[in-house]
Amino acid sequence: MSKSKLNKAIGSIEPSMTIGISAKAKDMCASGIDVLTFSAGEPDFDTPENIKEAGIKAIRDGFTKYTAAGGINELKDAVVMKEKRHNNLDYERNQVCISVGAKHSLYNIGAVMLEKQDEVIIPAPYWVTYEAIVKFVGATPVIVKTDEKDKFVLNKDKFLRAISDKTKMLILNNPGNPTGVTYSKKDLEFIADVAKEHDFWIISDEIYEDIVFDGYKPVSIATLSDDAYKRTLVVNGTSKSYATTGWRIGYTCGDKEIIAAMIKLQSQSTSNPTSISQMAAVEALNGPQDSVEIMRKEFEKRRNYIVNEMNSIENITCVNPKGAFYIFPNVSAFYGKSYNGHKINNSMDFSMLLLEYAHIAVVPGIAFGDDNYIRVSFATSMENIVKGMKVFKDFINRIQ
Ligand code: PMP
Ligand code: GLU
Repeated sequence: MSKSKLNKAIGSIEPSMTIGISAKAKDMCASGIDVLTFSAGEPDFDTPENIKEAGIKAIRDGFTKYTAAGGINELKDAVVMKEKRHNNLDYERNQVCISVGAKHSLYNIGAVMLEKQDEVIIPAPYWVTYEAIVKFVGATPVIVKTDEKDKFVLNKDKFLRAISDKTKMLILNNPGNPTGVTYSKKDLEFIADVAKEHDFWIISDEIYEDIVFDGYKPVSIATLSDDAYKRTLVVNGTSKSYATTGWRIGYTCGDKEIIAAMIKLQSQSTSNPTSISQMAAVEALNGPQDSVEIMRKEFEKRRNYIVNEMNSIENITCVNPKGAFYIFPNVSAFYGKSYNGHKINNSMDFSMLLLEYAHIAVVPGIAFGDDNYIRVSFATSMENIVKGMKVFKDFINRIQ
């Protein structure tokens, strides 16, 4: 066949490294190697019983057929109530689209809103998928580096310099993956004002809003003014707050024409998100919320331990995150040195040697757009964290 098999768009993106490394760690475990996994971007907790029961009940009740492409009304209503309760945001049913995970929500946003000439501002370090979606739909990611000394909050001048007349949107993730960055109301007000002045959209990925520490309470940028409300698409889902990553339910709230376009796309692509997962998500959002707080508290305990341990290591600096379940230590002081005769030149070398010799899986910072760091997820048991940090320190001590 002389014609090229694949199109240019798929050639422009890499497979998700967060998923790839976790799959590799699982394969190593399956082959009998005891890998300590700090790569997973998902809660290690089981899905709460009431949510599972709602899914089982949906199966038993025969709720196993196609639903409306953009989701069932019960779930849209549950999302509307949750956004009111949690963020004091007012939406109507026609402003909500239920998708197959927040990743799917984000993909649909890119697919229905972006065109070739458009630029999308993405603060880095960023979650792997933002850049990939923008590239895949043929638009241009404009990456704005943030600094460890600013706790990875977007720098105002750098942000302003990144804006052009082609800027179509900003993707904001608060609390953020992979750094755990959190934005104050004041930071967000500045961003909302700039978005208004330069007239671009704000995609606010709020999927970690419940996993917050030290009393930090995230403010949704959509609440800041009538203008911010109109130009923001809030993206969220049940994966992280309710430990339902495999159930695949995400949602978008905002402008009703964009929502209608997303639903139209879903009607011609995935059709509805899984019917039984939608029922489980109704229970997640409407049912008792105690499990969310139990998991949050446990994450905070682990965060306290792992940040302390990491910062006790000479030559490593690690920002104390106020949200999400990752730390993002700077390991660049070891670049140019060697482990077991192997030179460490970058975050990939560091992570691969760590996996091969210490059997610890982390994600190299390069996947998130910053090669000086590694991402260490603390969505794993305290026992694993204690053991993992001992092995990690031993690995560091052997670097020459
Ligand atoms: N946004 C961020 C920042 C994430 O880390 C994830 C995790 N995969 C998602 C969105 C998507 O989550 P899901 O597709 O499971 O809803
Ligand atoms: N969001 C998680 C992570 O960053 C899950 C994997 C993925 O969807 O990329 O690891």
